[in-house]
Amino acid sequence: MAVKVAKFGGSSVADVIQLRKIKDIIKSDPERRYIVVSAPGKRFEGDNKITDLLYLVKTTMENMLPFEQLFQVVCDRYTAVHANLGLEVDMQSAYDEIKEKLRDNPSADYIASRGEYLNALLIADFLGFDFVDAEGMVKFDEKGRFLMEDTFEAIREELAKHEYAVIPGFYGSLPNGDIKTFSRGGSDITGALVAGAIGAECYENWTDVSGFLMADPRIVKDPKQIRVVSYKELRELSYMGASVLHEDAIYPARIADVPINIRNTNVPEDPGTMIVSEERAMELKAGDDIITGIAGSKDFTVVALYKNMMSQEKGFVRRILGILDDYDIGFEHLPSGIDTVSVVMSNKQINGRLDEIINEFESRLRPDSIDIIENIAQIATVGHMMSARMGTAAKLFTALAEAGVNIRMIDQGSSELNIIVGVENKDFNKAIQAIYNAFVEK
Ligand code: ASP
Repeated sequence: MAVKVAKFGGSSVADVIQLRKIKDIIKSDPERRYIVVSAPGKRFEGDNKITDLLYLVKTTMENMLPFEQLFQVVCDRYTAVHANLGLEVDMQSAYDEIKEKLRDNPSADYIASRGEYLNALLIADFLGFDFVDAEGMVKFDEKGRFLMEDTFEAIREELAKHEYAVIPGFYGSLPNGDIKTFSRGGSDITGALVAGAIGAECYENWTDVSGFLMADPRIVKDPKQIRVVSYKELRELSYMGASVLHEDAIYPARIADVPINIRNTNVPEDPGTMIVSEERAMELKAGDDIITGIAGSKDFTVVALYKNMMSQEKGFVRRILGILDDYDIGFEHLPSGIDTVSVVMSNKQINGRLDEIINEFESRLRPDSIDIIENIAQIATVGHMMSARMGTAAKLFTALAEAGVNIRMIDQGSSELNIIVGVENKDFNKAIQAIYNAFVEK
C-alpha cells in the first residue's frame, strides 16, 4: 500500500473540534499512515500557543519565579481534551515525569518540545495509532547540526515496525540524548523528513489556509490560489516573503522527489497547493499560467559603484564580496554593467552600519563614484513558464510603466525562473497589484 505522511499544524490540533476534523481526514484515507503533529496552537484570537507558554515556563524559571502554575495551565489544556474525548492514555505519568525534570532546570529546547510530545501521546490514543517518539529518530551532532542521512536511516528502521503511527514534530536529540528542537515552525521539517525517509507517495501539510496564494492578500484582493508550484519556484517565493511552510521543509522532500501538498483542515475538499519537481510541475500546470506567483519585500539599499575600466580590473567583485563578508552581510544581488556594479543589501543586514560600509568600499575599491539608493523594495515575479514565452518581460515592464511605477533596478538570471525588479518602497503595493493584473486578471 502506498503511504502518505500527514502533518497537522498548531491550529489543526488546537482543540477537540479540530481534533475531530483531523480524525475524519485521517480515517477517510487508509494510506495516511504516519501522522506528524505540532503542539496545540491558538483556539481563538488572543489565545496562547502551547509552545509560547512553554518558552515562558523557561523564562519564568530563569528569573527564579514560580513556574509550576504556568506549567499546570499547559497540562490543563491536554487534560480537557483527554476528558472530552474520553481517552485512556495515562497523561498524568507524562506530566509527572516532565515536572520531575523541570526541577533540574532543563534546556528551553527540552521544555518547548514537550508541547508536541504530549500532543502526540494524546492524538495517538485518539486515532488508535502507535506513538513513536521523534527523539530517537531525528538526529543532531554534538554541535547541534542536523544529520540528515542518520535521521533518514533511523526513521526507516523505526517505522518499519509500525503500520500506523503518530510522531511529534519539531524536535530530535543530540548524541548525548539531550533534546534539540528545530527553529520555530519546525514540525513542518519533521513531516518532510518522515516523508522523505520512507519515500512517501505524498507529504500532506495540513494547516489553516488552502495553500499558497499568487500574491499577498493584504495587497491584492482575493488573489488566486497557486495550484502547482515547483520546489525551486517556491524557494524563490518564500525567500521573497511568501510563507506558509517552513523553508527547511522543502529540501528533504525534494531530494526524495516526494510531492508536498498544502491542505486546509477546515476545508478538506479543497485540493490545496501541490509542490513538485520541475518536470512534474510542467506536466501539471495549465498551459496559460505564465507566472506562478509574485512576492517581494521592502527595505533594501542599493550601492551603485562606478569605476572607469572596472571590467578590466581583476578581483573587483571579489573585493566587494570580501567587504560584505567582513560585515557578515549576505548580498542579495549584484546587477552589473561594463564599468558599474550595484550591491543590493537588506537594511536589516546593514543594521545601521551603512556609513562604515561605504567608507570601506571607498578605501578598498577606489571607485570613481558611489551612489546610494535607499528605501528600495524588491519584487520577484516567479514562474518556470516565463522562459518559454516571448514578451513576458515586455508585459511586466509595460504594466509597471502604465501604473506609474519607476523601476530602479532589474535582475534576471538566464534560467528565467524569475524577474526581479527594484522599485521605491512607496510603489511596492502598486507594483505588485499592477503585475498581478497584467498576468492574472488579464
Ligand atoms: N510548536 C512549534 C512552534 O510553535 C513547532 C511547530 O508548530 O511547527 O514553533
